Amino acid sequence: MRIENDPKLDFKDVLIRPKRSTLASRSNVDLDRTLPFLHTNASWTGFPLIAANMDVVGTMRMAAALGALGAMTALHKHYSADELVSFFRTPESANSFYSLGIAEADQEKLGVVSKQVAIRKICLDVANGYSEKFIEAVSIMRDRHPDALIMAGNVVTGDMTEALLLAGADIVKVGIGPGSVCTTRRLTGVGYPQLSAIIECADAAHGLKGLVCGDGGCTVPGDIAKAYGGGADFVMLGGMLAGHDECDGEIVYEERNGEKIPARMQFYGMSSETAMKKYAGGVAKYRAAEGKTVEVPYKGAVADTMQEIMGGVRSMMTYIGAMKLKEVSKRTTFIRVGAQLNTVFGAD
Ligand code: 5GP
Repeated sequence: MRIENDPKLDFKDVLIRPKRSTLASRSNVDLDRTLPFLHTNASWTGFPLIAANMDVVGTMRMAAALGALGAMTALHKHYSADELVSFFRTPESANSFYSLGIAEADQEKLGVVSKQVAIRKICLDVANGYSEKFIEAVSIMRDRHPDALIMAGNVVTGDMTEALLLAGADIVKVGIGPGSVCTTRRLTGVGYPQLSAIIECADAAHGLKGLVCGDGGCTVPGDIAKAYGGGADFVMLGGMLAGHDECDGEIVYEERNGEKIPARMQFYGMSSETAMKKYAGGVAKYRAAEGKTVEVPYKGAVADTMQEIMGGVRSMMTYIGAMKLKEVSKRTTFIRVGAQLNTVFGAD
């Protein structure tokens, strides 16, 4: 047994220190980034935010709405091959990832789809990216799809970030346990404070000219700003994008003054009992659910939430004098405030 004494940070443990700036207005900052990929000659330009490949949030309607704002969507993996072929033939798919796990059936479906339509962005996703088998799966994926952008995860440490990049990933997805509907930390005791995971994995990835996507744990626009400050090239959101018109799932209505008002929507982890019942006929005997099911407030059109997120990030950039998103991590100084911030916002 070993104990690491280095402080490890979550978003709530820090604030970003303001810096002298020559920027006159929020409208002077540029939220787009152009990110070159390690294994192909391609690059991508846009606002580097990705809707999570969870079946409530990673929908084709979400992809259309976020794509129009220059952001991305990782489609959930439960669409049929026919639905995926039709979708990836439309221009709306330009900012979308095809998501899959490492199960045989997932690989077969990708084979069927990619014979009919070019798949340019792949998200290879497992809860625990620390297995040899996963590294092998990334390497096979790179061989089969040499020109595709490949995002793979999840991991939380620099050594494994490097291993995945060297195996063929362009973007490593970072986060074990921070998700809003994730119960991994409670069930297993395993995890890593998300901001430190981003900082350490970004450092490792950037040394190899790879990229990282901070996945999970953002609850307010300021957390997204902190993720970029810590070096995240992309940020992936589940819970913050749940509850919108573009999500799948039923809206729960409430009656107020004799009128039916949309009030809440269901949101659940992809390893929750709800998801496993829906897709695998229940929770297998050898495992326990590592996700939960919640109701989130109904929030209307996702474009409004995106405006708030983009507004928050823009404003952070003016506070620290960063004209381009690319400059944010260089201009970020984090101040540790853990205990105080918990008293201000309420500990979770
Ligand atoms: P959020 O933005 O809601 O905090 O986090 C979204 C991320 O949580 C997803 O992208 C995924 O990595 C993770 N996640 C989704 N469902 C589950 C689950 O059932 N269990 C765990 N451990 N993580 C989940």
